[in-house]
Amino acid sequence: MSDADQTGLDEVVKCPVSGCTLTVDIVLRSSDKVLIGAHQANLAQFSEGFPSSDVVTAPKEPVDLAESGDVLALLVHFMHKCRHPNLANLMKAKPPRKRLFALAEAAEKYMVYPAMSVCNLRIAERMEDDLLNTFAYATKFDYLDIADKVAPHLIDMNAALIRRSLAGAHSNVLLAWFCYREQFLEIADAMAADPQELSLEEVGGLPCTSDVALWRKFRNAVVAALPQTTNDRLGLLGYSVTRKGVGPQFVTECKVYKSLDLEKTCVSGICPVRARRWEAECSQALAEVRPFSTFLSHAAAPSETRNWNWIRIGGTDRR
Ligand SMILES: [Zn+2]
Ligand SMILES: [Zn+2]
Repeated sequence: MSDADQTGLDEVVKCPVSGCTLTVDIVLRSSDKVLIGAHQANLAQFSEGFPSSDVVTAPKEPVDLAESGDVLALLVHFMHKCRHPNLANLMKAKPPRKRLFALAEAAEKYMVYPAMSVCNLRIAERMEDDLLNTFAYATKFDYLDIADKVAPHLIDMNAALIRRSLAGAHSNVLLAWFCYREQFLEIADAMAADPQELSLEEVGGLPCTSDVALWRKFRNAVVAALPQTTNDRLGLLGYSVTRKGVGPQFVTECKVYKSLDLEKTCVSGICPVRARRWEAECSQALAEVRPFSTFLSHAAAPSETRNWNWIRIGGTDRR
């Protein structure tokens, strides 16, 4: 930059806020070499990431920043007394909404609170569009309510992908993620396991030997209708919880449940009870899953190992 250029920064470089009459006394240079006029007093007042104008005099040279020009121009708006951009245009961008996440990142970095809030709301608004980016953002900047909402959507996602997405997060985030996911893994395995038999005491002393073949036929058909890999069963669990808010009805909605009509064909009356308990235990276990954020705290107690006793009969289901 020549001496002539340095004498009148505000004449050369404009502030991106239209109609702004403040004097440009600091120039920001983006990663893509766009010059953006700003005002040191505003940077100091509306952010905590830029040096205060009391501490340093405005630099004569542009200040190089790591963000792109369009992101910095948007960010500068949030450091003015003006109507702030509502970011609706950033929402329209096809996922992944890179500029929205880039602006959120910059807002967090320079601690521009109004921009942090708007980005946060916009990201949470359509989290399904960018699940991984949203989760990475939420865990990196400690928005645990968002992280907890996104987490069940991700349980069947490739571990390497998760690891890569969480590279910028605190080191305990990945560990917390695997602990959280482990809860679903246990359920996914138990779904496909043989539910425990009812004891004679539980069924009131009636022998159920005549039902062995019937139950086996039923159980095998249910298991065969389940997704065959653990990961695909995780997908089913995640889908049920996030889209329907309940556990999968993998027993009562299985074709064989109707075709075999256990209520009529079962001699002892045990099989229908056992079948419903199988599904209810899965739903119960899903309802008891601890939110992702509870695994982040160092003080959090380790998850209890669940006792997979599918058929502990309570009063209500007893026939
Ligand atoms: Zn301005
Ligand atoms: Zn039976």
